[in-house]
Amino acid sequence: MSRALIELVPIGKVDTEVLDFLALVLPETLPVFCRIRNHPVELEAAYHPLRQQYHSTALLAQLVRSHHNPAAKILGVTEVDLFIPILTFVFGEAQLGGTAAVLSVHRLDQRFYGLPEDRRLFLERCEKEALHELGHTFGLVHCPEFECVMHFSNSIEHVDLKSNAFCASCGRIVQDAIAHLASAAKASERRPS
Ligand SMILES: [Zn+2]
Ligand SMILES: [Zn+2]
Repeated sequence: MSRALIELVPIGKVDTEVLDFLALVLPETLPVFCRIRNHPVELEAAYHPLRQQYHSTALLAQLVRSHHNPAAKILGVTEVDLFIPILTFVFGEAQLGGTAAVLSVHRLDQRFYGLPEDRRLFLERCEKEALHELGHTFGLVHCPEFECVMHFSNSIEHVDLKSNAFCASCGRIVQDAIAHLASAAKASERRPS
């Protein structure tokens, strides 16, 4: 059976442990293959000197331009702090029902809050936010269930309160969307190149 593909693209310098961890755990929740793909993304083009942050929408646009596989979703992963103009920061941004999402691990690290490093907690948060942003690319909106990974988090406490799983209703939507993507994968395999 064909599986949908998720490409993890590091943006700027990214700890390989984070990428390897995501490539390992995402297929435990989603029926997908995951691979790490290096592709140049120009971070400086998204930099806002006054805010000293990077505009996530500008990074998303670059990821979409780099993307030519209709059977894959793309998740950019970065260590820099992201923003959109109406918010002080974002953990990530995704195209709803689209191709690409971007995740910042900057505020998922306990050291950002002046606390001692906690590697396990950090990686758990990375997994939750990666699933959340990918969920948006599969057409999911924010979920009212507190435990669902699609519940909206605008603070790290909210990230820690939710689980790393989709609720039954979000899970069904995501499974359907992935089955659809997998059939696109199969069709593109058959196409002579
Ligand atoms: Zn969201
Ligand atoms: Zn849900």
